Parts: sequence; C-alpha cells; structure tokens
Amino acid sequence: MPAKILVSACLMGHAVRYDGQSKPLIHPAVDRWRAEGRLVTICPEMSAGMPVPRLPAEIASGAVGKDVLEGEARVVEINGRDMTEDFVRAAENALSLAKETGCRFALLIDGSPSCGSGFVYDGSFSGARHPGEGVTAALLAGNGIEVYSDRQIEALVARIEGLEGPQ
Ligand code: SF4
Repeated sequence: MPAKILVSACLMGHAVRYDGQSKPLIHPAVDRWRAEGRLVTICPEMSAGMPVPRLPAEIASGAVGKDVLEGEARVVEINGRDMTEDFVRAAENALSLAKETGCRFALLIDGSPSCGSGFVYDGSFSGARHPGEGVTAALLAGNGIEVYSDRQIEALVARIEGLEGPQ
C-alpha cells in the first residue's frame, strides 16, 4: 500500500495560518501524492478549536515542543495568554489522525510552534529562532512518525522511492 503522509493544511493551500494566510508548497511530488490519495491534511491548531485569524504564539523561553509535552515549558500568545493546553490538544489530534489513517510520514511547515520541525521561534516575538521542533512535530516524531519539513521534500521523495521504488 502506498505510504500515507500527514500534511500541514497551510502547505496544501488552506488559509488557516494565524494571519489568515496559506503557504502552499508547489512541487510535482505534492501533486502526485494528492492524486494518489496519500495526503492526509490537518491544521492541528484549528482542530483544537483555534480561530483564523488568531494571535501569533510561540514556545516560551527558548524551549521546544518536547519540553512542552513534558510539562516543562509553555506556549504563549503575543499578549501573554497561556495556550499550552490548546497546543498539546492540537498535537494529540494530529497524532490520532495519523494513527487512524496509517500515516507513516508527516510533511509539516517549518517554524510553527505546532508544525515546525527544523526550527521554532524563541518566545521573544522578535523573529529570533533556534533549532527544534514544535509541539505537534515532537509528538509525531516521538510516536514513530518520520517528520519532514517543507524544505526537506526532496528527502521525503527519496525516502518513499527507497521504500516503493521510483515514482
Ligand atoms: Fe499551518 Fe500547522 Fe499552523 Fe495549522 S498549525 S496553520 S497546519 S503551521
């Protein structure tokens, strides 16, 4: 059976980001995977009831998603409101959907406090960023799902071709 891929809704062109925008990923593999029915789309934050638009949020104090999942860090909106429970619920929703639909891989947009996998912002709302995963990416990776950022799509193509042969 073709490998299924959980994918960030904003990468698929859905206007679900905090600022009401999308960030569509234009790549022939995305078109092919969509046609093959491999893609399972979710916006974790919307699945947890967050509205569009919403205030920007970051993982506080230079921490990363794993710290949030371990209860060692918080996710806060720019006005200081604690959104930790919402972001953990968002991650749990994504993991549940990945399990229900048999996704072995995830393709998530980088930089988000949920979906980031290569970097996240440091909680100062200054644009400063550092290496690390968002809350959803950390929960998925911790449960055996291979997480790729949008910048790593070629690596994901190669990984799937390694499993299934040339596409
Ligand atoms: Fe995109 Fe993920 Fe943020 Fe939803 S939670 S807007 S899918 S980056």
